[in-house]
Amino acid sequence: MLDRLSCRLGLLTLKQRLRFWVGLIIVVLGALILISTSLTEARYKTRETKQQLKDAIGLQSTFINRWLDDNSTQIRVLSNLMSGRTGNNDEIRRMFQSFMSEEGEYTAVLYVDAQGKVVVDSQSTATSGDVSDREYFKEARAGRSFITDVLISKNSNRPFIFISSPVMDANNNFNGLVCGVIHIGILEKIMNQFDFGSAGETYLLNRSGQFITVPLGVEGTPLKLVNSSPIAELANEGASPNEVYANYAGERVLGQYGWVKDREWLVVAEMKHSNVFRALYTDILLMSIIVLVVLLLSFALTFTFTEGIVQPIGLLLQGTSTIREGDYDFRIPYDRISSAPEELQQLCENFNLAGKKLKSTIQMLEMTAVVDQLTEVYNRRFIMTEGPRLLETCIRAGQPCSVLMIDIDFFKKVNDTYGHLVGDRVIIHAASILMSCIRSSDMVSRYGGEEFLILVPNASAASGGMELGNRIRRMFMDQPYREEGLEVSLTVSTGVADYRTDYSYGTSTLEDMVSRADQALYKAKRNGRNRVEMAIDPQKTGPQK
Ligand code: GH3
Ligand code: MG
Ligand code: MG
Repeated sequence: MLDRLSCRLGLLTLKQRLRFWVGLIIVVLGALILISTSLTEARYKTRETKQQLKDAIGLQSTFINRWLDDNSTQIRVLSNLMSGRTGNNDEIRRMFQSFMSEEGEYTAVLYVDAQGKVVVDSQSTATSGDVSDREYFKEARAGRSFITDVLISKNSNRPFIFISSPVMDANNNFNGLVCGVIHIGILEKIMNQFDFGSAGETYLLNRSGQFITVPLGVEGTPLKLVNSSPIAELANEGASPNEVYANYAGERVLGQYGWVKDREWLVVAEMKHSNVFRALYTDILLMSIIVLVVLLLSFALTFTFTEGIVQPIGLLLQGTSTIREGDYDFRIPYDRISSAPEELQQLCENFNLAGKKLKSTIQMLEMTAVVDQLTEVYNRRFIMTEGPRLLETCIRAGQPCSVLMIDIDFFKKVNDTYGHLVGDRVIIHAASILMSCIRSSDMVSRYGGEEFLILVPNASAASGGMELGNRIRRMFMDQPYREEGLEVSLTVSTGVADYRTDYSYGTSTLEDMVSRADQALYKAKRNGRNRVEMAIDPQKTGPQK
């Protein structure tokens, strides 16, 4: 499958495939490592940030609830002190003033009678006003302390709350209420102190998403500013803000919330997404650089590694192509594969050995194809395929050319008397006599059994051919076969023929010559052997006519 894909991608050579696939694996591995590490790191960072935000909210919620409780307790203590003192407004005023001087956060303390009329105001002697319709009055009449929602002072434009507690007479009947007016500036301070450097901040919202405390750097009056982010909505639904969202300023943040004051106020803590992940982005950048360096190194290693595989294969390919073209001498130089993997070195070594063997086998085959195994003169096949070329050269040059067909006389007798092995050695001896008689341009072959054919260029049958035939004949008579305790006298009969321009025997001029030389040989045999006879054809002889 990978091979098919490689073909489609146009990766045809081993080198291209190795480099592409190894490179791809490295890139994919690098990307996977980078992505998985980044995701894990991002998940861890998000979890860590959320926990940090939750911790901050927890601390602030505790502080706000305790602050409200403490103030509530103080007003309750004051209202208890009032029991039995109602009616003495001056004393109440003095009590209020001393309370305020001790508790610096209060801007005013009021005593409201059972009908809802403000009777004593710590800040003003001219009291007026009816608060009988206010919720805190109704709550006090029912015997309960109460903390109002945040209100905005018309005079100072600052946020404050009323903390009220009922005043009971000696018979435990409702006798009005004490109400402390307290600015929530302390909460603003706490909220603004509790930021996370420039990375994040905390603030208070009410259920409708209005700011109770305004974050640093935001211009505007509390309650008049509404937080446009989805945090209040999520809090009202009880959902957890798991995703990054846009805060009131449109910045992407990670946020958490916590309820305080009996689920009326919302403490929100937010951290800018970019700040949270800045370190992560730096890490990813660093990791990318490392991966890139590793990638480049791996590529360099792959290139070197593939070279070690591809080079020997290239040499093997070159070797097989050279051998295919018939050059069996090609050998892979060992110094060029010394650093290749061991298997490839062995493969190259085997190739060199196989090449060597192939060469010697082919040389042997070539020899046996042309040379007679017993006598080592040319065989019949060779003279019949190569002879016509030699003959053709003579014909074209207008030179004579003749053939001699030589047969050992009564050879059967040699075999019968001394055995075939001696017979073989006699045939070898005959071939060596023939070789010693000829010129280098003559071609001697063993035509069959104890018959030899000699092609003699530039010699007519009548002169050169007959002359050679007789020289051979004499040589055989002079040189009997000798071996230890044995001498075999030999004679030969020979037929000589010239070429004819239009042949009548066989399928070529040479076959015609051989056929007529054979006939002449039989004539020599018939005429008593140990003779040389010439094929006579006065009408159609070659150039000597
Ligand atoms: P002639 O030619 O004078 O008529 O008589 P001959 O005895 O030579 O007769 P012929 O040519 O018919 O016989 C040739 C013999 O040579 C027959 C065969 O057994 C023998 N012979 C052929 N090839 C070989 C060979 O390679 N080795 C040996 N030892 N004998 C061979
Ligand atoms: Mg014979
Ligand atoms: Mg014979």
